[in-house]
Amino acid sequence: MIEKYEKIDKEILGNVFTSTEVYDNLLTLTDFGSRFGGTKSEKQAVEFMLNKFSSYDLDNVQKEEFEYQGWIRGDTALEIVKPISSPVICIALPYCPSTASEGVEGELISAGNGSPEEYERIKDKIPGKFVLVTSKEPTHSRWRSFHRTEKLGMAIHYGAEAVIFQNHNPGRLENTGCARCNQIAEVPSIAISYEEGWRLKRLLTEGLVIVRITANHQTPRLKSWNVFGDITGQKLKDDIIVVGAHFDGHDIALGAMDDGSGASVVMETARLLVPYKKTFKRTLRFICFPLEEIGLTGAYAYTHKLHTSELNNTKFMLNLDGAGRAGESPAILTEGCPEIVSAFKKLAATMKYDLPLGSRLGSHSDFFPFFLKGVPSASLVSSRPRGIEGRGFSHTSADTPDKVKLRPLREAAMVVSRFIYRVADLDSIPAKRKSPEEVKKLIKLYGLEENIIVSKKRTVDQLINEGIFATPLEQKEGYLNTLFKVQSV
Ligand SMILES: [Zn+2]
Repeated sequence: MIEKYEKIDKEILGNVFTSTEVYDNLLTLTDFGSRFGGTKSEKQAVEFMLNKFSSYDLDNVQKEEFEYQGWIRGDTALEIVKPISSPVICIALPYCPSTASEGVEGELISAGNGSPEEYERIKDKIPGKFVLVTSKEPTHSRWRSFHRTEKLGMAIHYGAEAVIFQNHNPGRLENTGCARCNQIAEVPSIAISYEEGWRLKRLLTEGLVIVRITANHQTPRLKSWNVFGDITGQKLKDDIIVVGAHFDGHDIALGAMDDGSGASVVMETARLLVPYKKTFKRTLRFICFPLEEIGLTGAYAYTHKLHTSELNNTKFMLNLDGAGRAGESPAILTEGCPEIVSAFKKLAATMKYDLPLGSRLGSHSDFFPFFLKGVPSASLVSSRPRGIEGRGFSHTSADTPDKVKLRPLREAAMVVSRFIYRVADLDSIPAKRKSPEEVKKLIKLYGLEENIIVSKKRTVDQLINEGIFATPLEQKEGYLNTLFKVQSV
């Protein structure tokens, strides 16, 4: 068996390191544009990936259509009205609603870095205010994870009339990201650079600051497509191993690191593994998801609408969001599935490659809908470029292809191909599908219940059953009650 792997390993390494295909595909994707939901570049990317999957000789190549809540950027303006009169450079966050043409005015208040503790300290002052919050990870909090949607959701929960998200990294870049998921936000939600935020905060130290936001955006219902192709298994063809990543970026960017890289590595893994078509026990499915950036909506459509009946046979999902985007060697972290780690360590040992393995549970990439449905899942984690804290350039207009290099893309594709070949070849996958009760327990265990309800505005049960297509909780009653119940547990 080891000999078999050795031969294939050598061929894969030779193949990936003598081809520039993975980088060429990344450049093509970013040349189209952002691939954001509803854009022409999204459609171009879908057709390109379909053609590539067919040309790689995958089976069952298709695009699957579904409907979602679209958002198309129009104009946004932020002005200081008091104590001075001055425009502030800003962008809207996806799902920011339109205001009346004269805009909305309000008093500014800072929520610091937006931990629940910081919000609790100022919660009585928040109703009716415009809340300014940074993208920086707060320290010392009962929450382990601080996503933008959680900080915004918290502000809205306490009665903010608008939210202004400040990049904590200097460089005059706004940090974008959806304000809500597959849902128009309740209040205007915009982003400003560190420098513009600094200006606002300086004024706040001197007294009352009134600002005005004017926004005009379109919110049509739209259609999008998951794109996938298979290598059909020979012995257990109904058993499916999913390798996926999102191909959309944000509309203000080319989305090279997030996530042209991941989509290119999915495609490259398919290309590298096709020559062994006749040798796979299980079916391998390579998926490129749209709309991750506005709510993981493509992945939810796959797990909660279009492939529900296959999930019992979906044995494992590996998510490649950001794969190969920077120079460090990748790691594989299971998502709420620690029982699989020791078996994976044994597989990795046969690769003679230093592949760190561990376990965690996040909720902000395309593995999460699979996790909610109980499918054992994991993420390939690549570091971000050094020197920039937090998200770095991803989610800014500087997420451009000059930051991505051929070598880490090749390395990620090499690691994933060799690893997935071994997983697909196992006699049995060492983790079972989890029941909804087990999923709920894990969410509690990892301390994510509050985060999920605040950011998604849906209960864990709703997310398990209907995903992001569930009707959001009511602002005034149900939402607050549910949150209160969670906090008092
Ligand atoms: Zn991403």
